Amino acid sequence: MGQELSCLSSHEHNLFSAVQHGDLETVRTLLDGDSALPHQTTPYDRQSLLHIAAANGQIEILSMLLDQPLHPDLLNRNKQTPLMLAAMRGKIFCVKKLLDAGANVLKFDSLNGRTCLHYAAYHGHSECLQIILSSAKSSHVAASWGYARFVNIRDGRGATPLHLAARQRRPDCVHILLDNGALVCATTGGHGYPGSTPLHLAARGGSLDCVRELLAWGADRLQRDNSGRIPYSVAMKHMHNVCAALLNPSSSEPLVWPSPLKFISELNQDAKFLLERALMEANKEREKRILKGTTISVSPFHSDAGAESDISEADDDDNNLCSICFEQVCTMEVQTCGHQLCAHCTLSLCCHNKPNPNTDSVTPPVCPFCRGPISRLTVAKFGSSDDLDHDVNEISSSKIRRTRRSRNLSEGSSSFRGLSSAVGSLGKLGGRGSSGRIAVDDDDDGDLIDKP
Ligand SMILES: [Zn+2]
Ligand SMILES: [Zn+2]
Repeated sequence: MGQELSCLSSHEHNLFSAVQHGDLETVRTLLDGDSALPHQTTPYDRQSLLHIAAANGQIEILSMLLDQPLHPDLLNRNKQTPLMLAAMRGKIFCVKKLLDAGANVLKFDSLNGRTCLHYAAYHGHSECLQIILSSAKSSHVAASWGYARFVNIRDGRGATPLHLAARQRRPDCVHILLDNGALVCATTGGHGYPGSTPLHLAARGGSLDCVRELLAWGADRLQRDNSGRIPYSVAMKHMHNVCAALLNPSSSEPLVWPSPLKFISELNQDAKFLLERALMEANKEREKRILKGTTISVSPFHSDAGAESDISEADDDDNNLCSICFEQVCTMEVQTCGHQLCAHCTLSLCCHNKPNPNTDSVTPPVCPFCRGPISRLTVAKFGSSDDLDHDVNEISSSKIRRTRRSRNLSEGSSSFRGLSSAVGSLGKLGGRGSSGRIAVDDDDDGDLIDKP
């Protein structure tokens, strides 16, 4: 941009330089004297004043220019809009201003056929990404084009924003996109070619966080790309050994967010936050176990071992303890029966042990206590009234994680035995998912882990 400015007349040069550096008074003075100046562009890249203001985050100047009025979707040499440049550079206020001024989120550049959503995802500006998505949701784009279609919009090479975020190691953007309906198994292919999935590209980029996010949304570890490679092979090729271990189809399956369940799609923000966190914790435990290559300790579901060891720690919080695992505090409440359990056990109830991305037929789980239908999940109220006011974000992990299995285990074990048949595979999953306690699994991963 700097070199380009030298080709301009001194008048124009001063103007572009003032826009770039946010010199509002100079810009105002110069524009007042010449009505043609606002439409001036740089000689080679044909950047308008709006492009320069947006790319440099000069929100005051951008606002003044949009009052001129200038069309918000001016195109530079590469058919990039000011909105694309602001999204690329993470200039959130400029993105907001341009969207408010009616900038079109459905413009494609001539470089790679990318939209502003691709730019935000590629460069990892999650706030910009979120605000573009919100704008699209409430604008004509959702009505005329379809919101889901916009979220999964492809660039000239078939890449969706999710592909780019996964490739560029942007877990926040990956999460937002998946949460907004990005297809986890979308491929870059077409014309009969399979193409790459976001998981292939995350494997290539080597971001463990992105791999974890995608797996938690049901990404398929067995899907093959154009070269016939599964994501595991891609990770190995690029020497991302940790990612490869988790992508190895013979390592244990991660828990997958049970999105097909109706009451999961209807969770409120607080309940969703708790369950999502529990899911990620469970999968991180899985990772630790895979990476260690060992299975340790004993699940409370299979043994009373250690029941006597830490009785002394028991205190008056027992009412809140989950009576399935006797380890964590109840944070979730089943509606309409009102039974409470912890987030980990809730997930174990809802998640399939072996997720199958090809089918979304899920038998809705029932309440493990009364076997009644689950119409809704809400955040459980704690025992004391003070606790009711706590924000879920402030429920400290010490409060959620109770390691006092001891007394509660022996007290509750008889009621648990009654439960265990109702819950089915819960024991196995709960053992996997719960913190610090890992189930012995004798069937699926003991011997198979991490063979390259
Ligand atoms: Zn529990
Ligand atoms: Zn119930």
